[in-house]
Amino acid sequence: SAPARLPIGPLLPVVGGNLAAPLAGDGTPGTTGRTARAVNLDYAASAPALQAVADHVAEVLPYYASVHRGAGYASQVSTALYESARQTVGAFVGARPGDLTIFTRNTTDALNLLAASVPQDGPGAGEVIVLDVEHHANLLPWTSGAHRLIPTAATVAETVAALEAALAERPAALVAVTGCSNVTGEILPVAEIARIAHAHGARIVVDGAQLVPHRRVDIAALDIDYLAFSGHKLYAPFGSGVLIGRSDWLDVAPPHQLGGGAVRAVNAEGRATWTTGVARHEGGTPNVLGAAALAAACRAIAELPEGAIEEHEAALSERLLEGLESIPQVRVLRAWSDSTERVGVVGFTVEGHEAARVAVYLSAEHGVGVRDGKFCAHPLLNRLGVTGGALRASLGLGSRSEDAERLVHAVRTLVTEGE
Ligand code: PLP
Repeated sequence: SAPARLPIGPLLPVVGGNLAAPLAGDGTPGTTGRTARAVNLDYAASAPALQAVADHVAEVLPYYASVHRGAGYASQVSTALYESARQTVGAFVGARPGDLTIFTRNTTDALNLLAASVPQDGPGAGEVIVLDVEHHANLLPWTSGAHRLIPTAATVAETVAALEAALAERPAALVAVTGCSNVTGEILPVAEIARIAHAHGARIVVDGAQLVPHRRVDIAALDIDYLAFSGHKLYAPFGSGVLIGRSDWLDVAPPHQLGGGAVRAVNAEGRATWTTGVARHEGGTPNVLGAAALAAACRAIAELPEGAIEEHEAALSERLLEGLESIPQVRVLRAWSDSTERVGVVGFTVEGHEAARVAVYLSAEHGVGVRDGKFCAHPLLNRLGVTGGALRASLGLGSRSEDAERLVHAVRTLVTEGE
């Protein structure tokens, strides 16, 4: 018989890791109501905050004050906090000296900012090349301008070759690519794509929303020009994200938000001259606590031993995948037949069961939270032939083997006993 598998616990404590979820029947007058530990398998949408992040936010909250222009003590502390958060977040992903680390609201905001910064004429101007596998956040900002949309091939190797052929056919300004699919968890070879892009005189931006929470990403080592990611997928609360990368385009691009902070001077007619550097794109009062929270998450993750996240998630993903694939009615989604690397994000469908109903059933009957729908990646879902939506289970630092097992048990119960 198969050797017993040891249980796997959380790699780092998260806030709400032991929340109790009401199961169906709970709250009906006269009944006791059932509850179960709420199993969160929706890390890819928004990961729960690390306890270390919550502790840091509580610690810095007393210093909450306006940054940059206040002379008071709390303002000085807040300014130092905000600027050191910038350093921490940039260093966490290996930003090069001279790279800008611009705080944004999230990945969507960061990619829209970069899309408005691609030169329209002069050196570096050209189209943006994008794959149809992308999350809408890394698709729509590009397809609304000069672009070429490359259909994803059946294998990663052919997809990379298609990108190379497109670049060889006609020069481009930028290749926009995801580090990791938010639907299938498969990882793309961004270092190789960066090398190809550069060989053809183009730059590369990596949508790191799903990659950064699962893998060490080093901008300098991968030789990528821009990286975007979101705090709320990296164990910090909502509202903070970053665009990190080369300053030349960003220093002459239209300011992301017109207003205070982004200007050098404003004349009597209300015309501004704009500053350069990060301030150009951070008009208005910034999200200081969000930046501090994101930096705290980066610090906590950076302190983990090398490879710890990969090992933890690989063991859990294996249980999840093995379990789901052992159910004949389950189809695990893959974008490419030759992909070898993946993170703990598993998209799947259950034959004969509508995804939205399955998601409700899993939560109501088993206390398991997953995502359903088309995951803001309509072209990919359509290509995979998933018309009515799919399910996605995604895990992270607070996940345990019990979570994977509960989902597999719940799906098996559904297909054998029905809703
Ligand atoms: N890119 C990918 C791959 C994502 O998974 C997501 C969110 O699901 C985004 C971009 C957009 O992130 P946000 O909603 O934080 O802007």
